Amino acid sequence: MFALSDTEFAEATDCLRQLLRIDTTNPPGNERAAAERIARWLRDDGFSPELSGVSEDRPNLTCRLAADPTRRKARPLVLSCHLDVVPADPERWTHPPFDAIEADGCLWGRGAIDMKGFAAMALTVFRLARRRGFALDRDLVFVAVADEEAGTEKGSEWLVENRPDLLGSEPEYVLNEVGGFTLHRDGKRFYPVQVAEKGLAWLRLTARGTPGHSSLPDPDNALASLARAIDRIARARLPWHISRPARDFLGGLATHSGTLGKWLSPALFHPVLGPRLLPLAIPEPGRRRSVEAVLRNTANPTLVHEGGRKINVIPARASVDIDGRLAPGQTADDLVAELRAVLRDPRGERFEFEILRESEATVFSPDTPLFATIRETLAHQDPGGIVVPSIIPGFTDSRNYARLGATCYGFYPLKLPADLDFAALFHGDDERIPLDGFRWGIETLGETIERFAAAE
Ligand SMILES: [Zn+2]
Repeated sequence: MFALSDTEFAEATDCLRQLLRIDTTNPPGNERAAAERIARWLRDDGFSPELSGVSEDRPNLTCRLAADPTRRKARPLVLSCHLDVVPADPERWTHPPFDAIEADGCLWGRGAIDMKGFAAMALTVFRLARRRGFALDRDLVFVAVADEEAGTEKGSEWLVENRPDLLGSEPEYVLNEVGGFTLHRDGKRFYPVQVAEKGLAWLRLTARGTPGHSSLPDPDNALASLARAIDRIARARLPWHISRPARDFLGGLATHSGTLGKWLSPALFHPVLGPRLLPLAIPEPGRRRSVEAVLRNTANPTLVHEGGRKINVIPARASVDIDGRLAPGQTADDLVAELRAVLRDPRGERFEFEILRESEATVFSPDTPLFATIRETLAHQDPGGIVVPSIIPGFTDSRNYARLGATCYGFYPLKLPADLDFAALFHGDDERIPLDGFRWGIETLGETIERFAAAE
């Protein structure tokens, strides 16, 4: 199957090293240098990459490898990554975040995991597919977008709305983050493959009060009401919503996790028992938080938008923006109703909610030939590893690609040792990628593509 020579691996590592040394912190992004570097490598291999986007300095790179004309029988498969990264504070890092230092078997740098590692991986597989003369039954499209970390507007959202042709028009599948890495639990190795992401409901909450001169005592201060509302919302545990992806994910982890897990698994989905039993099933708070997030809507007040204007005037209104995330099947109106219950204001007499932005959760079926191929490949690359369909609390570019009718999976294969926790590396300090895991990832991704699109 798809083995990598030492020279090919050295080339892939060098790609990653060079990409890590280009600072694409978003904001502002500055993805241009990274996109141009990739375009140059692709041209060296005879490809014709295109750069397009909202502005010169924020381009998206797209590149197509055409199917064998005698074998073409299906819609394209897209390999998608984003080139921007979140900020890094050098003070908190062991090695400078944009130097791509190799130490302890890892390449260190902001973006090593999220997600220049996959950019280098997918690029390597894409170039090798051409060099090795894969007889593809569908077009393969490599995409490296801008602006994922700031909401996807100038990146995949722009491409989907303005140049879907560059994404193969109606791609059948997209492989993207977040999944495919080793998750160590109870002495077993799991491979979550993302099939769903939660939706978004950005809200503005406004408290109303009675304006007046602040030299007088006043029980109806809008700012004070807002403060109480913020506190209640921040501490609220909203109702359980069990979706198919959440059930598959939790059930998949629990059934392989010993007697307690097996016994607890069905009860965890119960609307009343579930929230009480979760701490028993997952004692570690950090890990529990991320599981809990996919089982309910969440709402975090993040931005005090409007308060008073003058120190001696009691304001009539005060507002806060709330980052709400929706479980599959839920709407922003559902979340508002849950928050009204938390505020004990069912009819909206004291508080107003405005929906600033809404998008429902995206859910893809794991019952597809590509998912089956991912399972087969992982069984070959890591016998004993357990594949579970997963859902993430955040969102990725897949949310936009879904609008083109594509089935999107978070499959960024990466073999991690038990002492490297994926969740801590993602946007964390000392982000780094183990080089042997990176090599395994390229071979696993290559084998997946070979089995799926280039089979004899
Ligand atoms: Zn990412």
